Amino acid sequence: MESPRVVSGWRWRLAWILGWCVFWATNASGAAPAPVRLPNVVLIFCDDLGWGDVGCFGAKGIRTPNIDSMARRGTKFTSFHVAQAVCSASRAALLTGCYPNRLGIHGALGPNQKIGLHPEEMTIAEVLKTRGYATAMFGKWHLGRPAELLPIRQGFDEYFGLPYSNDMWPRHPSAQTGTYPPLPLIDGDRVVEEMPDQSRLTQRYTERAVDFIGRSAGKPFFLYLAHSMPHVPIFASERFAGRSKRGLFGDVIEELDWSVGEVLKALRRHGLEDNTLVLFTSDNGPWLSYGHHAGGAGPFREGKGTSFEGGIRVPCVMQWPGRIPEGRVCDTPLMTIDVLPTLAGLAGAALPPRKIDGMDVWPILRGVPGATNPHPAYFTYYNQGDLIAVTSGDWKLFLPHVSQTLAGGSGGTNGAPARYRALRVGLELYNLRQDPGETRDLAAEEPEVLSRMLLLAEEARLDLGDARTRRVGSGVREPGRVP
Ligand code: MG
Repeated sequence: MESPRVVSGWRWRLAWILGWCVFWATNASGAAPAPVRLPNVVLIFCDDLGWGDVGCFGAKGIRTPNIDSMARRGTKFTSFHVAQAVCSASRAALLTGCYPNRLGIHGALGPNQKIGLHPEEMTIAEVLKTRGYATAMFGKWHLGRPAELLPIRQGFDEYFGLPYSNDMWPRHPSAQTGTYPPLPLIDGDRVVEEMPDQSRLTQRYTERAVDFIGRSAGKPFFLYLAHSMPHVPIFASERFAGRSKRGLFGDVIEELDWSVGEVLKALRRHGLEDNTLVLFTSDNGPWLSYGHHAGGAGPFREGKGTSFEGGIRVPCVMQWPGRIPEGRVCDTPLMTIDVLPTLAGLAGAALPPRKIDGMDVWPILRGVPGATNPHPAYFTYYNQGDLIAVTSGDWKLFLPHVSQTLAGGSGGTNGAPARYRALRVGLELYNLRQDPGETRDLAAEEPEVLSRMLLLAEEARLDLGDARTRRVGSGVREPGRVP
């Protein structure tokens, strides 16, 4: 028989061993979870850069090695669209995931307008801030000039740039004297310069972007770099002037490519490349009336200000090593309205409480085999809310409207625009896969497709309205308004 002292020592040793077992088991099984590493997002948005203005999209005489490297190390999206082929409306859609019609933002806002993106709308920056992101925007805003509507009131921690288009200034080539006030350059919500030297804009935005990346390396961040170039009037810095084979326009694009390179270098330098999604695209197609001061839409018809593919289809590349396939070309149709819900999904953030139109398309970006677009259709509006085009699968329907064209004529010279002619577009149907240049109207040959597309148009009118048919949509909201 054991003595009481021996029994007590044996029990104590057993308890000690069991305690250690429990401790190791709980730690080894992950009872203390590793913190989730949220991805950084860099969204580079050019202004009026056409589908055909980038090397990897077929540009001739313009070198874009850094954007091309993104296509090699990531995926090139050849059927990426904006929601409307003009600045403010396109930006509203990108930042909120809504069709511009839903937000009441049409066309391009003027410097003296008292409206803009309603502060109650949630931008990508606000969505990501709910997950602790640092946010910054450098470049062109164009979603409301009043201080109450500027980026720092819409989810961005910091802002530096032009509040609207760089041609809305007293040197506009065709506007009447007095139309535009001196062009302001804004830091936060303060005008820090008037009539800044535009040849330095690309460089200054880039410096701020690189600095922000360096300062944010310890936490997740969202950087929105919205270049003013190559919107007219185009400018390149001294270092890039005369460098390309395509004159000033080519120089401007090569400087934008340099900017992309600086951003990529900064990510690499801070060890952030593998955890950062970089998306490069444009707000609409080329402004063709400006001739050699504008780019080109590659194989597509027309350009900015129209709902032909040349206006709404933009070059797009995305890289995220290990997450987005390398060297892939994806021709699945996508639209900028899908960016917000996709990023929200990646960051584990809730979607905005107000209805949005975009959908999470991460499986397409990720290259999941068989992934298809979840939208029944995409809708393109223009002017003050006219429904112009419906795209569904390979098909695109145009509703009768008046568009613009140079009718084969060349654009203007030396920064002055040529006049567009009116182009009457009827009820027309195109198969974009077989006829991406939209040359052969199949409306008469495909009555079943036509009626299916007309039904989709009617559904959009019920929800989003249509100024032309005087249909008031049930889901249309007011823009932000300052008295
Ligand atoms: Mg634009």
